[in-house]
Amino acid sequence: MSDRFPAILVSREGEKGQKVEKTDLGLDDLMEGDVVVSVEHSTVNYKDGLAVTGKAPVVRRWPMVPGIDFAGTVDASDNDEFKPGDKVVLNGWGVGETHYGGFAGKARVKGDWLIHLPDGLSGAQAMAIGTAGYTAMLCVLALERQEVTPDKGPVVVTGAAGGVGSVAVSILSKLGYEVVASTGRAGEADYLKGLGAAEIIGRDELSGQPRALNKERFAGGVDAVGSTTLANVLSMTKYGGSVAACGLAGGMDLPTTVAPFILRGVSLIGVDSVMAPKSRRIEAYSRLVRDLDHDKLAAMTTTIGLDGVEQAAADILAGKVRGRVVVDIA
Ligand code: NDP
Repeated sequence: MSDRFPAILVSREGEKGQKVEKTDLGLDDLMEGDVVVSVEHSTVNYKDGLAVTGKAPVVRRWPMVPGIDFAGTVDASDNDEFKPGDKVVLNGWGVGETHYGGFAGKARVKGDWLIHLPDGLSGAQAMAIGTAGYTAMLCVLALERQEVTPDKGPVVVTGAAGGVGSVAVSILSKLGYEVVASTGRAGEADYLKGLGAAEIIGRDELSGQPRALNKERFAGGVDAVGSTTLANVLSMTKYGGSVAACGLAGGMDLPTTVAPFILRGVSLIGVDSVMAPKSRRIEAYSRLVRDLDHDKLAAMTTTIGLDGVEQAAADILAGKVRGRVVVDIA
């Protein structure tokens, strides 16, 4: 049996350019690690879009197999926590950036980066959730720690029709929150209502020149957009409310003032999924099993093969992807 497997490889071309090709690799091509995984599913997240297109310097070692997350089965392990046959999932840790990632039939990684796939979730479902969905759960956990409970009032989700947004809308509505979904795609209103949004607002309502303070509207929020959108959300957050910020789909800047923080006691909570400790990952996945409706997850998921990755990468940066894109590697 051949030990070759398909992979997407991104290589430097010229000083700043890059080329993307589908190729075959062998185990000897993989990087260091104590666990070899047969990758069955990966996904296309916003960061994968940046890596594959080269629109931002996500890839920091060349050549690179992109793919910041994957689910699969352990082939071989020198790590006490994992044995052949174990179902595992990986999100982040620089995989797909500095270490060969999930857009390949096999990956060799540090066992410390893996977690066991929780009972109640298949590998395909774990990747339908993907890093975007696991980050949405981290945002919900952050709001809960801040005591933003459903009785406090509506919560806003920005970039709602995207990956983080779709999962956040679904989880929050299942938990009983009144979810206000902000989207730039009016045509996705029915989709978002189907996921549980109580109200849909246009992206433009949150993208004007932000005032220091605005009418108090939201008890909290999950923001995947950043920039003026996040500044507007902060200005509309109720006294004592909290906003979990995880993304920059609208920009890296944050043109706000200290007014929401010092006059309304608003908290801005940063959420990072890449280096999150293992205990928090395990907590997030166990909550995803419990608090994410599997039918809604299926409704927000599209599946492609490795051949579709390049197009999906361009689409996600163009804001054209609805929900989540799973890559079926097999
Ligand atoms: P998606 O592209 O799937 O979703 C982003 C959504 O943001 C789009 O669908 C769109 O929603 C909205 N959007 C896009 N462009 C703009 C714009 N110019 N202005 C306002 N809204 C815009 O990406 P993901 O859900 O995968 O990721 C979302 C963000 O979260 C990214 O910035 C990503 O890097 C970040 N992220 C961060 C993580 C972390 O660890 N902190 C982990 C995972 C993701 P709509 O059409 O509904 O308006």
